[in-house]
Order: sequence, then C-alpha cells, then structure tokens
Amino acid sequence: MEFKKNDILTIDIEDMGHDGEGIGKAEGYTLFVKDTVIGDRAEVKIMKAKKNYGYARLLQVLKPSQDRREPRCSIARACGGCQLQFLSYEKQLEFKKNKVLGNLQRIGGFTNIQADRVIGMEEPWHYRNKAQFPVGRSKEGKIITGFYAGRTHSIVANQDCLLGVEVNQEILNRILNYMETCHVEPYDEKTGTGLVRHILLRYGFKTGEIMVCLIINGDRIPDQDKFVEALKYISGMTSISLNVNTKRNNVILGEKIIPLWGKEYITDYIGEIQYQISPLSFYQVNPIQTEKLYGTALEYAGLTGKETVWDLYCGIGTISLFLAQKAKQVYGVEIVPPAIEDAKRNAKLNEISNAEFFVGKAEEVLPEKYEKEGIRADVIVVDPPRKGCDGAVLQTMLKMQPEKIVYVSCDSATLARDLKVLCEKEYQVEKVAVCDMFPQGVHVESVCLLNRRNE
Ligand code: SAH
Repeated sequence: MEFKKNDILTIDIEDMGHDGEGIGKAEGYTLFVKDTVIGDRAEVKIMKAKKNYGYARLLQVLKPSQDRREPRCSIARACGGCQLQFLSYEKQLEFKKNKVLGNLQRIGGFTNIQADRVIGMEEPWHYRNKAQFPVGRSKEGKIITGFYAGRTHSIVANQDCLLGVEVNQEILNRILNYMETCHVEPYDEKTGTGLVRHILLRYGFKTGEIMVCLIINGDRIPDQDKFVEALKYISGMTSISLNVNTKRNNVILGEKIIPLWGKEYITDYIGEIQYQISPLSFYQVNPIQTEKLYGTALEYAGLTGKETVWDLYCGIGTISLFLAQKAKQVYGVEIVPPAIEDAKRNAKLNEISNAEFFVGKAEEVLPEKYEKEGIRADVIVVDPPRKGCDGAVLQTMLKMQPEKIVYVSCDSATLARDLKVLCEKEYQVEKVAVCDMFPQGVHVESVCLLNRRNE
C-alpha cells in the first residue's frame, strides 16, 4: 500500500533513531516519529512521505511504553532543546551507551567491546551553567524571552528551563520588567531594528557567582543605572555587562564587551582547578559531568609524574591542566587564539608551570613539531570537535608511538572512524566510558583508552 502526506495511522514504535526520534513500521514502510519512545503504540499523521520512509507527527499515544515518562517541562514538545524528556533517565543512558557501542561496531568494526562504565547524573536536571535566551515580542505584543521552537526562530516563551539554574527565572523577570518600564525595544530579526537581542547568563556551580550579559544591537542601553540596580542585589551577582552585536546574522555574541558593574569575569572550579570565565570564554556547560569525564580521561592516561603528554584540540586547556597535576610536561594545541590565551591565564592562575600551549591546527602543529623538532609523547589525549581528527593527526600519532592514546569524543561516528585507523595494527581499544554531559538531550560524550600493542 502507498502512503502519502496527511494519512493517519496507528503504529508500534520499535526502535529509536540517532536524534532520539521513535521509529515504527506500517506494513513495512518505515516512519520516524518525534516525541515517541520504544514500546509506544501511537496514532500518527504523515507529514512527509518519501519512497521508502517518511516522517510523521505524533497525534496521540494510544498505549504508552513502560519507559515513557510525562515530561517535567510544559513546553518539552514545542521547544527545540530536549529530545529525550519522554524517556526514563535509565533508558536515556541505555540509548546513549548503545549509540556509542553501535557506532564502534558498525563503523569501526569493533565487535567485542563492552562499556567500561556509563557515567550518568544523580540529578539529571538544572545542570547547565550557561543559558542564552533570545528576546522578542509575542503575537500579542508582549516582550518575551524563552527558546527557539525546534528548527525555527520563533520564540516559545519560557523563563523556567529545567536544565538551567533556578535563579535564571528571577534574573529574566527583572530584565523583562526593566525593558517594559524603560521602554526598551527587543530586537526584531526580520527588520534588524530594536535593541535587546539575547540575554546570556552564567553561573559558577562551585562559587555561586553569577554573570549577566545583555547582547544588544547598539552600544548603550537607556536607563543603564536602572538596569544595574534591578540586578546587582541578587545574591551571587558578580558581573554585569553588555555585548555589542550589530550584525544581521545568527551568531549570538559580538566581539565587544562593555562592563557595567562588578568584575569582568566569574570564577569557577573543575576539580581543584580554578577558571576565570568572561562572557566570550568557552567553558564546558555541565561542570559536574565535565569533572567526571576529564577525571576518567586522567585515570585512563595512567600518569605517574614522568610522562610527556600532548593534549590536542585543547580549548581553554581544561584537560591539559587536569593532566598537568600528574604529568611531567603537558603540551596543548588549539586553533582558536583567545582560547589559548585563556588556557595560559588559567595555568598561571593555578600556578601550573608544566603546561605549554600552541595556537594552530593540530594537523599542522603536530606533524611539524614531530618532523622538525622530533618531539615525543608518552600519552596523547585528543578531544576533537564533531568532525573528529584530521588524517594527518592520526598518521603523526601513529609515527610518534605513544604508549597510550586517550580519545575524548563528542561524536561516536567519527570516533569509530578514527579508531579504525589507529587500531588497524598499532593500537588496541582497552576501555570505553560513556559519559552523559547532556541529560534529556541526544548528544553523548565518550572516552576511549587505546594501548600500544607489544609485538
Ligand atoms: N577540551 C577542550 C574542549 C575541546 S572542544 C576544553 O575543555 O576546553 C574541541 C576544540 O577543538 C575546540 O576548542 C575547537 O576550537 C578546537 N579545534 C577545532 N578544530 C581544530 C583543529 N583543526 N586544530 C586544533 N584545534 C581545533
């Protein structure tokens, strides 16, 4: 039977896709249905029908799966942020483990790997230390803030995101209140007019320090004193600033910061290491899980204090500084110059003198240093972006022959592709840990330990 758009049918959800969507079959025809979970029987409406598969929208759950959970957030379906809120946390972790092991098997050809551990959160809510809220007007003309609805730029009003910290709500209320009273216009993407584009909030989990940065289409705000006054008495408030972004694009932050009150940064810790975080700094968004993830990387590196370690794609040096506590010398490589400035400053702040940082592409810096300077490594740690490691990085690592390679990955498909190259002859996979940095969302991080084979 041929299916077409707007057909309504009943299906059983039997599988889950990479983006967390449910998958079911109607007479052999595969349908992807967002917001359903394995075990649901659901009435769905076909939105897009291709020859061999289609996308359908959930109309109603006829018989819920025993793993289905009522989402805690009232706008979970409309908001583009969480994909797995409908699934019990236990099953979310299983989904993530299977995703990593499945990719290692299918793409990498590693058939006998078990997860050494799956690192979940005790409380998988309110874990994000950073939030960026777009500001706009509702259909009724009220100033609102919230989140973009999935794949669009229309704002779903919400000041109480359950992934963020609770104080955000109070801060947002006060900012909207200031905007209403002082007649401050929200930015309108369509016309490029109006002033306030986004509100950036950051929170130090260990220090309780709060940062507010208002991103504006201009270089000043009216009644600045009233804005500061509305915020500065909130307990923990440490830094209030403006960020100038007058460009008509989708990038949230501009380059210029105008400090208004307090410090220009907040301070936070991951483990024993202290970080100064400014509005433009990169910083991991889930500090609790970051500590566990990098702790696992450190454990896998098995350092005794004598090792030379390279940390490729080092960002602001979070892993490098973690490793430096237990290694003889650490070298970090990162492509973004301000991130390296942060890394150097953080090293100094923590009185770590055995970490050195280089700006450049890992695929250029590493081969060059190896061929021209004959650098060596006992351990190499990589934490690449989603596209994984460049071929030149993999080949140079193979030539350098470190005893151990620790691969931290945010995309298990490219992890599997790269491990296949590394493990063709010289290395073998010793351990894989799966770490949930983004509960309720589909992304998953993993750490993999490779040992050099002894011939
Ligand atoms: N471990 C880091 C985060 C790594 S995220 C931290 O905790 O800060 C991946 C990093 O790789 C990003 O900082 C990105 O800027 C950097 N990057 C991307 N492509 C790169 C390349 N070709 N060479 C070096 N670094 C790169």
